[in-house]
Amino acid sequence: MAILNRADAAPENASSPVAAATPLLGRPPLDADEFRRQGRQVVDFIADYYARIDDYPVRPDDVAPGFLTGKLPETAPSTAEPDELTAALRDVRELILPGITHWQSPRHFAHFSATASNVGALGEALAAGLNINPFTWAASPAATELEVVVTDWLGKALHLPEKLLFAGGGGGTLLGTSCEAMLCTIVAARDRKLAEIGEERMGDLVVYCSDQTHFSFQKAARIAGIRRGNYREIPTCRESGFALTAKALQAAVSADEAAGRVPLFLCATVGTTPTSAVDPLRELCAAVEGRDVWVHVDAAYAGAACVCPEFRHNIAGAEAVDSFSTNPHKWLLANMDCCALWVRQPTALVAALGTESDVILKDAAVRSDTGVVDYKDWQVALSRRFRALKLWLVLRCHGIDGLRAVVRSHVCMAAALERVVRADARFEVPVPRQFALVCFRLRAAAALPGEDKLPCGDDDVTTNNELNRRLLEAVNATGRAYMSSAVVGGMYVLRCAVGNSLTEERHVQEAWNVVQEQAAAILATAATTRTAEEHAVATTMAYPIPIYL
Ligand code: PLP
Repeated sequence: MAILNRADAAPENASSPVAAATPLLGRPPLDADEFRRQGRQVVDFIADYYARIDDYPVRPDDVAPGFLTGKLPETAPSTAEPDELTAALRDVRELILPGITHWQSPRHFAHFSATASNVGALGEALAAGLNINPFTWAASPAATELEVVVTDWLGKALHLPEKLLFAGGGGGTLLGTSCEAMLCTIVAARDRKLAEIGEERMGDLVVYCSDQTHFSFQKAARIAGIRRGNYREIPTCRESGFALTAKALQAAVSADEAAGRVPLFLCATVGTTPTSAVDPLRELCAAVEGRDVWVHVDAAYAGAACVCPEFRHNIAGAEAVDSFSTNPHKWLLANMDCCALWVRQPTALVAALGTESDVILKDAAVRSDTGVVDYKDWQVALSRRFRALKLWLVLRCHGIDGLRAVVRSHVCMAAALERVVRADARFEVPVPRQFALVCFRLRAAAALPGEDKLPCGDDDVTTNNELNRRLLEAVNATGRAYMSSAVVGGMYVLRCAVGNSLTEERHVQEAWNVVQEQAAAILATAATTRTAEEHAVATTMAYPIPIYL
């Protein structure tokens, strides 16, 4: 079939009916020499981007909805221009880059990072180049086996319970997102439960989480057919550090049982999105013990920290869980996307997601009793990406020590930031830092030093939340730092998540300087409505406090 790729070559056998009927391609879409040339262009482009990334405002400025649509033609070109990739890369530089939020900027502290690496990006490129579709073992045996190996490697590196690994009778797979991991496990739990109690009880199934759980769980529960009224979002509070308590879970489960409903699934989180709170796995598993409730752990962000022994206490009790997922694309150098899911009972996944009508995919040479993994039965889609190659490359090239160094350096910078925030009396850290996420906020104006009145009424809370919302907006508008926010226990907090591969101490220091500058300006404005004395208290606090690491 080489002829398909050789536009310049005459058909080898012009008399062949296939050759006679096949139109020649104008330009071969896949060509080794051209790939080499264009590949260098793209690699240089990316390297230049990293070298200059610090010059961009983290969040695009001057960008309104529709800004790009208006700059691009309404239809795709009908003919390619000469040297089209050079022209396209110019468009990327001039039209697209000004409109992206630079997630790899060392000043990006919003959400949770997408911690990148050279080998993470190149692993993606390698997988894209091979462009295989390993839905079954037979469809690309090495891809499946590499996924089996690499999920066990990662599980061991995180010190997950043996039961979740292939080595211990469970097993792992690589999906795109945590939401997929939640969906697949809810469906597995649902079918396991309905097989026991009867399909007519579908409407009685109840799922549990906390009010800090990522919204993707709600999405997954809906897709899995759980009634909206049977989604229990259990309130947390500041006293428990916004973690789900066993007592609250037990009460919710007992109430449902008393009402004739069936507790099905608990999604516990290690490292919640708003504040990185850690739900106590051991206590939560004990609270539902004996009820056949599937316990899933969403450790999308913080699971990565378990590469370091000092963070492993956060998953104590995981021996009793049914499944566990974490996103190596968040903090383990595996560029987007990669979510690792481990389950204790892979047969439950396969029973729910496998189908009998896939004869077309069967390879007659593979006997069904060989125990090979067909990963299409562990996920929703049939098609699969070769994520194992990227993750394997990251683990192989960085080693576990390399991953530990990344996590520890981010945690260390975040700890330093937390110290300086606490040292500035205008601010408070309402929830202690977990991992590399610092949540902070300006104290209520009424509670600034020299004041004896603490905010107590709803008006105070609203005013203070508004003050902090304005602070975040002002910080982000500078383009010198980009953070995000959360509302926990009614409090609006700024979230500063340290986690980018290019972030150094100086970037964290500058981000803090920006916060201080903007806070001083906002407080000064707010102070014009207060007395002259109060004004002095607020503005004389506007000195930068250096970060000492
Ligand atoms: N769970 C937690 C705790 C998260 O922080 C996030 C995203 O930040 C998610 C789930 C969603 O992850 P994904 O994009 O992989 O679905």
